[in-house]
Amino acid sequence: KVALDEGLQKTKQSFFSKLTKAVAGKSTVDEEVLDNVEEALITADVGLETTVTIIERIEARVAKDKYLGTSDLNRILQEEIAGVLTKAPTNEFETFDVPADKKPYIILVVGVNGVGKTTTIGKLAYNFKKNGKSVMLGAADTFRAAAVDQLTIWSERVDVPIVKKEMGSDPSSVAYDTVVSGIAKGVDVIIIDTAGRLHNKAHLMDELTKIKRVVSKNIPDAPHEVLLVLDGSTGQNALEQAKHFTAATDVTSLAITKLDGTAKGGVVLAIANQFKIPVKYIGVGERMQDLQIFNKYEFVDSLFS
Ligand code: GDP
Repeated sequence: KVALDEGLQKTKQSFFSKLTKAVAGKSTVDEEVLDNVEEALITADVGLETTVTIIERIEARVAKDKYLGTSDLNRILQEEIAGVLTKAPTNEFETFDVPADKKPYIILVVGVNGVGKTTTIGKLAYNFKKNGKSVMLGAADTFRAAAVDQLTIWSERVDVPIVKKEMGSDPSSVAYDTVVSGIAKGVDVIIIDTAGRLHNKAHLMDELTKIKRVVSKNIPDAPHEVLLVLDGSTGQNALEQAKHFTAATDVTSLAITKLDGTAKGGVVLAIANQFKIPVKYIGVGERMQDLQIFNKYEFVDSLFS
């Protein structure tokens, strides 16, 4: 919770200085107040759609609740933001765990280059391992030498095995070999990195479909999870990427990175509101400890505390 509070500092500061200005010297919620609250939400990258939802609900609330001052507006806002998140899907797990009846549990990680995909995989491996699970990594982003190198560095840092092939190899053959090796070694969790090129949706779709197919050859219900990594500091861009990837494949969970050092943390609200896919993890720093299980109640609490 402390790390979450710290991670969201910039979003909080920008959001609250705007919010405080929005209600300064006001005793009623008039158009001007609503406009300013709207601007605060938009600036925090809550997104138009979600902002409109929240503003409409505040309007309806203040029409019947007596508005008394800043702290009341804060409370109403907090309740309405929590309301948006309450309707978003909840995480199945509160710790870094996987279902006991799915072994190995296979996670396919997708996302555009640079969003923090490799780092998130490394952090996940660290946390699963810390939680007593054995982990294996698969370097199926064979298009960039740097991707394989980075993942190798993480596998050494966290001390988990990695399956990789030379650059340019067929990504699905790497995925296949990783699953076979993971089964042979009896590991609990297999995390497979994939290429993040997005220049062609059909290509992306074909490639992910192929990887999913080979992964299911040995484990019929795998991949158990398709985790999309999004860079929270890119705000609305992250929303666009979510649209692309959800159109290309069945994304089952989300990780939103780089929430530290950005004032655009409101994008988590927009994503949770627009995609009925649980936000499972958030990244709040570069170290392996800096990945958190997303808890929507704590998130709202952090924004307002
Ligand atoms: P990839 O190309 O998607 O695999 O991206 P990388 O995992 O290589 O990450 C790109 C950069 O973002 C690296 O410098 C990471 O250290 C950094 N990064 C990743 N996650 C976070 C995060 O949660 N917070 C911060 N501040 N930096 C992050």
